[in-house]
Amino acid sequence: MGRRPDIITAVATAPGRGGVGIVRISGPDLSSLAATLGNGKLPPPRQAIFGSFHDSDGRLIDEGLLLYFPAPHSFTGEDVIEMQGHGGPVVMQLLLARALSLGARLAEPGEFTQRAFLNDKMDLAQAEAVADLIEASTVAAARSAVRSLSGVFSDAIGDVRDQLIDLRMLVEATLDFPEEEIDFLAAARAVERMQAIAAALRDILDRAEQGALLRQGLHVVLVGQPNVGKSSLLNQLAGHERAIVTDIAGTTRDALKETIQLAGIPLHIIDTAGLRDTGDTVERIGIERTWKEIEDADVIVRIVDARHGITSEDEGIDARLPSGVPRITVENKCDLAQLDTQLTETDQSTRIRLSAKTGDGITLLREHLLKLAGWHPHSEDVFFARKRHLGALSSALAHVETALEQNQALELMAEELRQSHDALGEITGEFTPDDLLGEIFSRFCIGK
Ligand code: GDP
Ligand code: ZN
Repeated sequence: MGRRPDIITAVATAPGRGGVGIVRISGPDLSSLAATLGNGKLPPPRQAIFGSFHDSDGRLIDEGLLLYFPAPHSFTGEDVIEMQGHGGPVVMQLLLARALSLGARLAEPGEFTQRAFLNDKMDLAQAEAVADLIEASTVAAARSAVRSLSGVFSDAIGDVRDQLIDLRMLVEATLDFPEEEIDFLAAARAVERMQAIAAALRDILDRAEQGALLRQGLHVVLVGQPNVGKSSLLNQLAGHERAIVTDIAGTTRDALKETIQLAGIPLHIIDTAGLRDTGDTVERIGIERTWKEIEDADVIVRIVDARHGITSEDEGIDARLPSGVPRITVENKCDLAQLDTQLTETDQSTRIRLSAKTGDGITLLREHLLKLAGWHPHSEDVFFARKRHLGALSSALAHVETALEQNQALELMAEELRQSHDALGEITGEFTPDDLLGEIFSRFCIGK
């Protein structure tokens, strides 16, 4: 800290070709740089002006729009310049080179957002939501991320934190007058207030867990012989949502894996039909990796033909599947077997008879999968939480609960409340150590 930040630049738009591409520059006092790019004229704040961009030798690069956002009314809170040109990779590289020639350096991943955080344009949870929104792979995930970005999650945390601060002040003040402590706390309804804080934290944690489900999805292993109806079943499960499923950004599509959506929750499906013995080294490595992922599956769905039941091939694969994972056996083609749809639950597993072709009984499977996932149907207002948020929330709650048990030992109570407050502060970035900050921002893409 203390060092004056330098000027950073990056291509802000996605690589490849598009109608428009944007190079962004951020730094302290960019007015002269903006005037240079404006060919001698400083663009008025936050107004797009049409003009021409030139390289340092004065050669024309492109025509486009120039925007100047003087601090603090910008994304980063510093002066920001945007050059919007035609979205081709060469144009973008030339515009970027122009920015570099004027004294900027290439931005690190997430550095624009990091500056926005450091300049109090947003808190840490909101900064993380920027990355989440960009990476969102389902509509529900994007909606939830943008809610966090707009501060809904931070506000909920902030509310509890304010209650906690009030209570801490009360408890610590009482510590100074030991002879009055019991009456004092009773009069101030300290216990009720702690209970209210614990309830609020439980509610936020619950919604954050739901959001984590939206973010991580459910890992499903699909077992079944060829022609038993796996593809048909996936299509029925996904229903109309299938069309908008995409792979998670950055991972290449894997023949053994597929992602569909169920009520907005990504269902990552590994089809064991692809797990055959092979001499091909590359394929074998892929298959080994898939077996490792199967170890972490949330549920195993085995499909059999209702007319034949479980075959010896099914049992061969079965022997290799992890035993602690919940299982569902789907008896498919009940229409051909002329059997009714049915759900049978035992301690070990669940059997669902349905028809992937007609869709009869598919609701039984959908609802059972959602139940296994712990999804509540009312979950509109979920928080798109990260693992680190869940950890901090659980810890904040645990400390308040311990404080409640300490209601005679004031010093211990004060200490628990302090730790709860610290845990909440980690979410918004009030008390977040620098190395964690570095790690969070390094996972952003460049230009954000
Ligand atoms: P996969 O090889 O396991 O993916 O099986 P498919 O989903 O490709 O289905 C194989 C054949 O079975 C197709 O002709 C499907 O139309 C048919 N099929 C799948 N499920 C059912 C079902 O529930 N009832 C009937 N009658 N046919 C089905
Ligand atoms: Zn198939």
